[in-house]
Amino acid sequence: MAFVCPVDRLPLSNDLKCPKGHAYRVVDGIYDFLQQEPKSNDILEKVAPLYEDVWAPLGFLITGKATYSSVLRDVASHSSGREFLDVGTGPGKIFEYVKCENCYGLDISLKFLRILKERRPRVIAVRGDAVSLPFGDESFDGVTSMFVIHMFPDPSKPVSEISRVLKRNGKCTMGVLTRRGRIAELLSKWWKLELRPESFYVGISERFELKTSSIRQMGPWSLINCVKTSG
Ligand SMILES: [Zn+2]
Repeated sequence: MAFVCPVDRLPLSNDLKCPKGHAYRVVDGIYDFLQQEPKSNDILEKVAPLYEDVWAPLGFLITGKATYSSVLRDVASHSSGREFLDVGTGPGKIFEYVKCENCYGLDISLKFLRILKERRPRVIAVRGDAVSLPFGDESFDGVTSMFVIHMFPDPSKPVSEISRVLKRNGKCTMGVLTRRGRIAELLSKWWKLELRPESFYVGISERFELKTSSIRQMGPWSLINCVKTSG
């Protein structure tokens, strides 16, 4: 699978140069498609080394009353695939569960991606933006995005990109925070997020040819399993 330019989607040369002059690089084994530094999420970056072992499991147990590992196992059983991408992968815990041959993990944080490279060297680490993925159309058999999409002001952008890079009949799972209960309200205030109902996420998925096959609810969290239907 070859990378494309995230600006214009033209194929890149082996040294990551676009015919229109955009150029990207590899930093410490990480493919870097961000041309400028993102606004850093200080809290998240500070907890990065402990994120997958402490913060995510603990936070999930308290708010969703389910174990993080059981959730990731569930996600992997639906959306594993030979060519596989996790969007907003953080340190890439999902790759302990997913079965894939060519495994890609994308995030905007170099700090998280360095942890991913160190702990899971077989995963191809990519720094990029979920609203313009550096992959060609119909590249993946499976795509997941866990607890990321609800953080975007316009969640339809990352959802349309997930659909674009999925092959027909490819599977995806999106884990999102939904408008359900008191905990959802607390979390959305804390993270300064707009809370949306689960039906909103199902609706935008269907708009981009991602048909919902099943949903698992855990507290305010929803795991939406989809299949990309033919256009
Ligand atoms: Zn370009």
